[in-house]
Amino acid sequence: MSGIVVVGAGMAGLLAGSMLRKDCPLILEARERLPHNHSAVLRFRSSIVGDTVGIPFRKVQAIKAVERWSNPIADTLSYSMKTNGAYTIRSSVTADAKVSERYIAPEDFIARLARTVQGEFAFGKKFSFSDRWRGSSPVISTIPMPHLMEALGWEEKPEFKYKKGINITAKITDCDAYCSLYCPGYHFQGSRISITGDNLVVECYPATEKEAILIKEQMEPIASEAGRKLGVREMHITDVKCQEQPYAKILPIDNRIRQRFIIWASDEKRVYALGRFATWRPTLLLDDAVNDVRQIQKLISDPGSAYPHKKKG
Ligand SMILES: Cc1cc2nc3c(=O)[nH]c(=O)nc-3n(C[C@H](O)[C@H](O)[C@H](O)COP(=O)(O)OP(=O)(O)OC[C@H]3O[C@@H](n4cnc5c(N)ncnc54)[C@H](O)[C@@H]3O)c2cc1C
Repeated sequence: MSGIVVVGAGMAGLLAGSMLRKDCPLILEARERLPHNHSAVLRFRSSIVGDTVGIPFRKVQAIKAVERWSNPIADTLSYSMKTNGAYTIRSSVTADAKVSERYIAPEDFIARLARTVQGEFAFGKKFSFSDRWRGSSPVISTIPMPHLMEALGWEEKPEFKYKKGINITAKITDCDAYCSLYCPGYHFQGSRISITGDNLVVECYPATEKEAILIKEQMEPIASEAGRKLGVREMHITDVKCQEQPYAKILPIDNRIRQRFIIWASDEKRVYALGRFATWRPTLLLDDAVNDVRQIQKLISDPGSAYPHKKKG
């Protein structure tokens, strides 16, 4: 097969397929149909994704605030434990209720993005990274880094720490707002409550399986309480659902190992990692992935371009 193969039809894989157009004849996706893996809040820092793929994004004013629970230190540590499973001061509960500009994709973004892809989709096909494929075509992989390390036989594996999440979503009648409230208190299962247009999202990070079951059973009361915290009345909340997110919170690993692996995979195996989970960058947004696709494209057409030291031989 000639051309670039993309593995994974999540948003990063679709973005690559869309940007690479005829250079990417095939997108392989393990799921049986076009996945909607992302159920948390989705906002963009800029209009770059929309501009690049020709899907207009809406510019909005968004507001973020913290529900003050105790004192600033207790709020930070409690929020960190709720979301990361450890008391650290890395977590940000510094939202100061200021308004900032954000960009919002249309509701049918994934379907529209998939339509901009020129290559073929193969659903229900798990790419094996077997010897048969190695080197025959360059591969852009969006599968999570721990799985790719395993598949390619990389031995220097760091300890990958991550938390599963459950996102409770609902519709709010007569609503067009953009806001997030961070909730450090233990008494409430959600860590962040957000409204995007008329969509309510409560992001929960259960500490145990038992807690996960409880959250799913209690999704309606949790959505109602979340609504109340944002000033939304229970009677205006409809269509409550929940969805699990396996890598809801990923914690940083040693950056040198991370980079060594990415460079080795692209140099030695012609497998190019793309996306938040594939490159294990906890804060990566799709905005950043646009530039990453361009870098990968350059690297594939001129392998020495990204690592000039390699050219010296
Ligand atoms: C809580 C949270 C909030 C976020 N907020 C934002 C935000 O506001 N803005 C933003 O831009 N981003 C945000 N993100 C990041 C965003 O979710 C991801 O960047 C985006 O979903 C892209 O994911 P992906 O395509 O890299 O991976 P995935 O969606 O995980 O896609 C990978 C795909 O690969 C498939 N796959 C796996 N193994 C194989 C295989 N062997 N063969 C074939 N297919 C395979 C899987 O089935 C899956 O569909 C957030 C993420 C989280 C967790």
